[in-house]
Amino acid sequence: MQIRREIRVTGIVQGVGFRPYVFRLATERGLTGNISNTPAGVTIEIQGPAALVEEFSAQLSIDAPPLARIMGLAIQDLPCNGDAEFRIAGSHTGEAVRALISPDVAICDECLAELLDPADRRHLYPFINCTNCGPRFTIVRNIPYDRPRTSMAVFPMCEECRAEYENPRDRRFHAQPNACWKCGPQLELWDSQGQNVECSDPVAEAVARLRSGEIVAIKGLGGFHLAVDATNSAAVDSLRRRKHRFGKPLAVMVQDLKMAEAFCEIEQQARAALTSHQRPIVLLPKKRGIAIADAVAPGQNDLGIFLPYTPVHHLLFAAGQFPALVMTSGNLSEEPIAIDNREAAARLSGIADAYLPHNREILLRCDDSVIKPIAGRVRQFRRARGYVPAPLELHNDLPSILAVGGELKNTICLTRGREAFLSQHIGDLENAESFKFFHEAVEHFQRILEIHPETIAYDLHPGYFSTKWALAQTGARLAGVQHHHAHIASCMAENGIEGKVIGFALDGTGYGSDGAVWGGEALVASYASFERAGHFEYVSLPGSAAAIREPWRMGVSYLAHTFGKDFLGLGIPFTHKIERKKSETMLRMMERRVNSPLTSSCGRLFDGVAAVIGLREVVDYEAQAAMELESAGLAAPKDASAYPFSLFREGNTWQIGVRPLFEAIVDDLRKHTPVETISLRFHNGLADILSRLAGCLRDEFSLRRICLSGGTFQNGFLLTSLVQKLEADGFEVFTHTQVPAGDGGLSLGQALVASSLLQN
Ligand code: ZN
Ligand code: ZN
Ligand code: FE
Repeated sequence: MQIRREIRVTGIVQGVGFRPYVFRLATERGLTGNISNTPAGVTIEIQGPAALVEEFSAQLSIDAPPLARIMGLAIQDLPCNGDAEFRIAGSHTGEAVRALISPDVAICDECLAELLDPADRRHLYPFINCTNCGPRFTIVRNIPYDRPRTSMAVFPMCEECRAEYENPRDRRFHAQPNACWKCGPQLELWDSQGQNVECSDPVAEAVARLRSGEIVAIKGLGGFHLAVDATNSAAVDSLRRRKHRFGKPLAVMVQDLKMAEAFCEIEQQARAALTSHQRPIVLLPKKRGIAIADAVAPGQNDLGIFLPYTPVHHLLFAAGQFPALVMTSGNLSEEPIAIDNREAAARLSGIADAYLPHNREILLRCDDSVIKPIAGRVRQFRRARGYVPAPLELHNDLPSILAVGGELKNTICLTRGREAFLSQHIGDLENAESFKFFHEAVEHFQRILEIHPETIAYDLHPGYFSTKWALAQTGARLAGVQHHHAHIASCMAENGIEGKVIGFALDGTGYGSDGAVWGGEALVASYASFERAGHFEYVSLPGSAAAIREPWRMGVSYLAHTFGKDFLGLGIPFTHKIERKKSETMLRMMERRVNSPLTSSCGRLFDGVAAVIGLREVVDYEAQAAMELESAGLAAPKDASAYPFSLFREGNTWQIGVRPLFEAIVDDLRKHTPVETISLRFHNGLADILSRLAGCLRDEFSLRRICLSGGTFQNGFLLTSLVQKLEADGFEVFTHTQVPAGDGGLSLGQALVASSLLQN
């Protein structure tokens, strides 16, 4: 008996080889019908003997191409017709745009083999791609995803490319960026002034310049990189000087996994992450005595390492045989990555000695993603290229909400039904360039997702650019969300949990409900509300923002808090080194409450400890002191010795007291205990006191689920030991994996809280 069915498929099914896959599935079984792209995904009509149609339907999601992500299948019966074959029909437009655009994908093995094959017509062609690989998100102007709506629209395909594109049996069937030497984008080489340099082989020229220690700006998928030979100290130093990026670690790209293993300790999980089609930067423990210049990641236990993901990267390594290239975002420190050729030449002028641009336009900037394996799972530190715009799946339907995130490491989030679209890392909204990127992202995401938010969620901090932007919008409801509540909601959402939990939100800075600077918070929270059940005791933040840049100020604050004004007589290196005048100024500021708000920040506690033990007095980038303190702790021989904290109650809240901690640290400093050991004892003590507090809250609130969120939990040492302790104590512990624990994950939590506020 013949039957005919309509199957509507939603998810990431466009631009990932889904239609040729279905075509094969149908023709192999002699079935007839058609498939077309729709704004919602694809629609298949399939006709033939009932048993074969059944088999086809069952097989559909099982063998789907690697990049496809089926999120919904709706099946209905249709009357049979006279179809004699299976056809691939054109795209429909008109309905609500629901199809998902694929993230950008690293070059696949087949394309790589062709790239290096002298007999192939695309031998050494820098823009080779197919339906299984290549640019997607960063070349899309609008959807449905078809060539005219991408930045490939300006490259008419040659006859050979067109034949591949139209042949359902070809790997390049409907590969929208399909191109070759004859018809596609080309590389160029520019000098330091942005002038085109005539040469037959821009790659060879770029390689020669890199070899001689020059800085080359290379246009990639989501923006320009600044590249230098990572084994050349002088070159790395000059990159840092010119980019005004002093301490912050730089990522390195290496040719293959074998090379990565020469530089880093790599376990199974990290190996899989490095070679995944997302090709993120993976933070991995550095081996000793490697050829990478020390200036690449000074003071760090880890090295950020990644593998080539565009044909151009492969060509550079094939021609240059570099052990490793520094590949850092093409920008001036803290600004967003440059994407346009002329913009790059203007903004990177004075930094780059040469440029390797191309004429395929990048429509939306997208940095490299950064991940790190901690406590048996891979954690997102910076979610961007390769992952965005794939949605996170929620457990409940949400109305359409735009959440605008925080100030630092900003991301935005748009929700639609059970999908949350977290944007790529936008950056620190403190500069005009980043704020422009924020606007672009808000607009671009709304356009390609066709989401028109009814509600805008924002952080309560009145000074944040994202908050000011939200408050200036008209026509949408507004929902202010407390910073640490958003962190915990983000962790709950990622783990699909409902109801009430204990939430530890530890970070540097967040606007507190009492006007103080929060950052070491124990909440009892649901999506709808939270109660501040505990926090680190308040100390002064002398100079506000200046105290964040200068950890020595926190050293003074904690020592004065613990020992009183006379702490200068403690006789430790910190008090010898610090100028009496400077420290007296701090004391006066704190006493008179001049520009010295109170803070419960855990990030500042790390800063204070790092300063007092002489590790870092001034930071070059956010969280530097905390990262160096963690690296020091990891270098100490493992043992369970731990510093004491106090735990006391004031009113209805628990407070973690730091006086016993600083007394013990000063004792150890007088005994000349190595900083590594001090750091180890600090981390152990912190994990101890947090698990003790968790125990108290469990008894008080009868809760055994705990969520850990906030940037402090990017500290692998702390996260690993706290999770261990809590699990051993019978807690169900939830942490971040797909969403950053830091402020990059804030927007997701804001959306969930806002949705819940609307319902109540
Ligand atoms: Zn490919
Ligand atoms: Zn061509
Ligand atoms: Fe935060």
